This record gives sequence, C-alpha cells and structure tokens, in this order.
Amino acid sequence: MKTPDYSAFPDDRGHFGPYGGRFVSETLMEPLRRLEEAYARLKNDPAFLAELDDDLKHYVGRPSPLYHAKRLTKAWGGAQVWLKREDLNHTGAHKINNTVGQALLAKHLGKTRIIAETGAGQHGVASATIAARLGLKCVVYMGIEDVERQSPNVFRMKLLGAEVVPVTSGTKTLKDALNEAMRDWVTNVDDTFYVIGTVAGPHPYPMLVRDFNSVVGREVIRQSKEQMGRLPDLLTACVGGGSNAIGLFHPMLPFPEVRMVGVEAGGDGIETGRHAAPLSAGKPGVLHGNRTYVMADDDGQIIGTHSVSAGLDYPGVGPEHAWLKDAGRVEYTAVTDDEALAAFHELAHAEGILPALESSHALAYAKKVAPGMAADRHIVVNLSGRGDKDIFTIAKREGISLT
Ligand SMILES: *Cc1c(COP(=O)(O)O)cnc(C)c1O
Repeated sequence: MKTPDYSAFPDDRGHFGPYGGRFVSETLMEPLRRLEEAYARLKNDPAFLAELDDDLKHYVGRPSPLYHAKRLTKAWGGAQVWLKREDLNHTGAHKINNTVGQALLAKHLGKTRIIAETGAGQHGVASATIAARLGLKCVVYMGIEDVERQSPNVFRMKLLGAEVVPVTSGTKTLKDALNEAMRDWVTNVDDTFYVIGTVAGPHPYPMLVRDFNSVVGREVIRQSKEQMGRLPDLLTACVGGGSNAIGLFHPMLPFPEVRMVGVEAGGDGIETGRHAAPLSAGKPGVLHGNRTYVMADDDGQIIGTHSVSAGLDYPGVGPEHAWLKDAGRVEYTAVTDDEALAAFHELAHAEGILPALESSHALAYAKKVAPGMAADRHIVVNLSGRGDKDIFTIAKREGISLT
C-alpha cells in the first residue's frame, strides 16, 4: 500500500479525515476565515519567514541541541537515548515556538491586543512574554481555581505586563477560561488576536500551531543525520493537547522507517478512570471547536481529568493526533504519575537535567522500551520543558523537605 501524504493535511475545510473542522458559533466563522486567508498568504511570504527565523534564532535560542544521554543509555542498557532539548528555549519549554509565530501573525495583521487562555499558566507566560517583546497589549483568561493553584505563573504574567482575568464561571478551570477567551474574541475581533496554546481549537489553529512547532522535527532531521548518520528509529513525546509531539513527529511522517509513539497522562492508572488519556481511553466527540477524541461519559458530557503534570491535564487532544491514531501511523500509550516521577529522578541523577513532569512521561516510556532494543538503535525523546516549575509539586507529593 502506498503511504498516504500526511503532509497534505488538513484538507481545505480543516479536516483530518473525520476529525478537526470548525464547530463554532456563526459569529466566529468570519474571523476564522480571515485568519486562514492571512496565514495562507504569510506562510509563503519571504519577509514574514525571515522575521520568524530571526526571532527563533536570537530570541528563543534555536536550534536547541540534540543531546546524547550516554549515562542514561548505559543505565537502561539498550538503544541509544537522545534528548531534544526544548527545555533550553527562552521561558523553558516548547510553547514559545508557537507563541512567537502567532504573535508575529498578529503584528502583520495590524492587531494591537492579544488574548490567551491558560490552565497551568505556561501558555499564559509564553503569551505575556511575546506580547511584551512586540509591544502588544495582553489579556490572559485563567480559571480562578488555577489562579490560586499556580500563583508563581500569575505573578510572572503580571511582571511581564499582562492582565490576568480570573474566571469564576462553571468549573473555574481551563474549560471555562477558554469560553471566556472566545467571548472576548467575538467582541473585540477588530483589534484582537486570539493566541491558542496547543494544536486544538477550530481550523486553522491546529494547522498553524503545528506548523510553528514543526521547527523541532526539522531540526531533529538535520541533527540526527549529522550526529547518528541517519534518521532515528523511534521518536517519543508526551501528549497533552499534542503540540510538542506533533512538532517533532510531523516533519518525519513521510519516513516509514521512523516509528513514533505519543505518551498520554495515565494518572493513577487507566483502569482507575483517574487519568488524562483521551486517545488511550476516550472516544470521538466535539471539544473546543473541533472533532477529536475526548474524555466523556455515556451522555457525551466532558468528564474530569487527573495528572500529576498540569500541562497534560486536558480532556481532549489535537485532531491530527486522532487521525494519526486511527491511521496507525503514530502509536499512543499512557504512563502513570508514578512512572513519570521515577523517570524524572532518574534523568536528574544520570544527566544533571531536571525535566518537566510532562516530558517525564515520554522519558518513562523510553525507559520501558530501550532495554529491548539493540545498542545500534536510536530513540529521540522530546524534552518539552524544564522541571523547575514542578519542584514544589514533587516535594509535596513525595514528602521531601525543601531544605
Ligand atoms: C504545556 C506543556 C505540555 C503539553 O502541551 P502539548 O500541547 O501536548 O505539547 C508538555 N510539556 C510542557 C513542558 C508544557 O509546558
């Protein structure tokens, strides 16, 4: 069978097979169409691309290294383990790759104000950062529960000049912050650009967020040829909404010899129901303006999620992942909170790197499979962010004294 041309998707209506699309109110259709048109024009505009490249190089600090984790490889005894160091980007995670791109779009469209929604606060910080850099006004919607749980990130956003709006409706978390951001956008669409933080939302967002993050996979293609002499055998990345994973995977979809595994948050274990793994244990439904896999009850109501890592605690996933799962091109699995924490400690001790708890999920998966692979095989783990933000979560959970 001929390999489908995965790079040709989504189609011109924003569909990845039966997933994706644009499930929004009529008032949002026109702004989304205008954004789609503008992006189609700018993504081929040499001046826009040169400005984006320059920002990625001099502001974000790209390319990020592809690091051969030799001591970890030795400890696990099998395939060579390599880390794509997105934790070394400005602000400490991959999210800046996308916010730099979207903020540049906002600037080229003449917008003076950006809005964002955030759960744990990481996308809020990335948006506030780039707004400051471009002199744009920035408003971040955040559920009041999250404002209280994530106060250091709220303070960071304030220091960067952003306004943080606590959302008190519904469950007072990410889901409700998203609705508020949408409402703001409908009202202020003339001067406002809505910056979405993962490969979800209505078309064209899953496509443009993917395109901006794909710099990661393009770099790995070049770096692995230089450092391994060929492409890797296995790529793995954690999947919350799926932006760091698709950024690594997408440029390598045309190469059938490269296996890819996305790792969801298994929480307390899939069998307990306390997890955030819609691809592993959910079903197709509609969430945040697109059709995808979601965590829902028998009546189709979205149900609560659990993960030790705030960035993976999301009941949906980007529609491209839903499609890649059904197509069998990418495999998806889940690891538990405990497995992710064990991998966190192991990397800290073996290599002197504190990974984000999100990224620790991908590491935990690599740990399961590396010993069964020969020493001439290569695994690339996307280290999506650094773990400094997680130290208090870990101290509390493990009862470790801070001093
Ligand atoms: C937000 C975040 C994630 C999860 O988001 P994706 O869109 O799935 O990449 C993963 N890792 C880190 C460090 C994050 O901040």
